[in-house]
Amino acid sequence: MLDKIRKLEEVSKQLEPLSGNRNHWNKAVQRYADTFLDDFNQHTTFVMSEDMGKGILDFPIEEDGKPIEDILQCLEENVDTPNLNPASGGHFGYIPGGGVFTTALGDYLAAVTNRYAGIFFACPGGVRMENMLLRWMNKMVNYPVTALGNLTSGGSMANLSAITTARDTKGIRAKDIDKCVIYMTEQLHHCVQKSLRIAGMRESIIRYIPMDECYKMKPALLSKQIAEDQSKGLLPFMVFASAGTTNTGTIDPLEAIGKIAKEKDVWFHIDAAYGGFFMLSDTLKNAFKGTELSDSMAIDPHKGLFLSYGIGALLIKNTQALFETHHYTANYMQDAFALEEDPSPADLSPELTRHFRGLRMWISLQLLGVSPFRAALDEKVLLARYFYAEIQKLGFEVGPAPDLSIVIFRYVPKSRDANVFNQDIVESIMQDGRIFVSSTTIDGVYWIRFAVLSFRTHLEQVQLAMELLKGIVFKV
Ligand SMILES: *Cc1c(COP(=O)(O)O)cnc(C)c1O
Repeated sequence: MLDKIRKLEEVSKQLEPLSGNRNHWNKAVQRYADTFLDDFNQHTTFVMSEDMGKGILDFPIEEDGKPIEDILQCLEENVDTPNLNPASGGHFGYIPGGGVFTTALGDYLAAVTNRYAGIFFACPGGVRMENMLLRWMNKMVNYPVTALGNLTSGGSMANLSAITTARDTKGIRAKDIDKCVIYMTEQLHHCVQKSLRIAGMRESIIRYIPMDECYKMKPALLSKQIAEDQSKGLLPFMVFASAGTTNTGTIDPLEAIGKIAKEKDVWFHIDAAYGGFFMLSDTLKNAFKGTELSDSMAIDPHKGLFLSYGIGALLIKNTQALFETHHYTANYMQDAFALEEDPSPADLSPELTRHFRGLRMWISLQLLGVSPFRAALDEKVLLARYFYAEIQKLGFEVGPAPDLSIVIFRYVPKSRDANVFNQDIVESIMQDGRIFVSSTTIDGVYWIRFAVLSFRTHLEQVQLAMELLKGIVFKV
């Protein structure tokens, strides 16, 4: 048996590469990353590909490892080339990514040390770090110091945890589900409907409150609808507002909605996944008045703080309520509960073993400071306003003036169907590949969506977008 153990040890020790190997792999990966970053001007934003990364399938998982050079080549050809490059400054579709480099440093360290920041007992410093980041965001949105929350994998998970917590806090039982009423506008992000189903509320009633011409919820109609539902014996339970819708970047009238929610005793949740970090900007802060009246918020550092994908946050005033919904005691965890000075993320989310995702955010804010983030957000807002003004001078029709950094626009030709014409514009932009835009349909009208949120997007990329549009529409 000892012989066998020693033989196995010989092979299993490959999992701990010697420093020579480590060096070699580190250098190769670093070279790859440097090339990616240094050559940014040569990258296109969208690459139409024939094989759609199929080559990855010809590179099977095998018993023996392969050289790092071959692996990186496979990655470059099949993963990092075809289709959308969300890191590009020319990315104006969906909610642009970006991924500031410092995220990678945090992730690298988190992966190497593999500290477990889910439970205070295991890594008190890491838990304090994550909670400190949550409190920093809570302060930004004017929540009290007792508020906390959880660093999630993204906004969808943050919204889901808010729903389950609200459901439990309001004492909703299975037999009440079909009497529960949830209020939102049709512009709310679809992940909320998804989450309601996951939370067992498929049979609840959703009321879509009408909006004004800028796609903002009409608070008077919300108030009226809640009163009507109450008088029918239904259970008005939760109202959602957006602080930055995905379609148009619109902020609902948060203060008015918050007051109604208080008065009617319904849980008020704000989806600020895209827009929340614009609160860092002094000029925009007023637009968010009313966040302090909400019970919970979703906000995404992987959007408005430009970090790489994989970090969102739920902010919540009632920390105890979040705990009641998410904690559980198991006997194999009995050592973990002594000495808690700061709540453990594992008690405030569905996750147990989890990525130490706070480190990427902490190291980014520590290394760079807040001011470049603030400046970048102000810059994006001004770029969107500039685009909104200039595109109209070219004869394009526009949607509402941007609250944040998203513009919808279209060109209405004299003799062709506008919806088809604008679909063709988007198709031509995709073929060109230097920039990428997405589209949306609101009330049957096809709009081109221009979302500015990559930290790499500057005046140059916005002007390129306008040149391209001019060329496509006027063939100049
Ligand atoms: C992106 C987004 C979400 C979903 O968040 P993920 O991080 O993608 O899970 C929810 N709401 C809004 C407004 C968003 O922009």
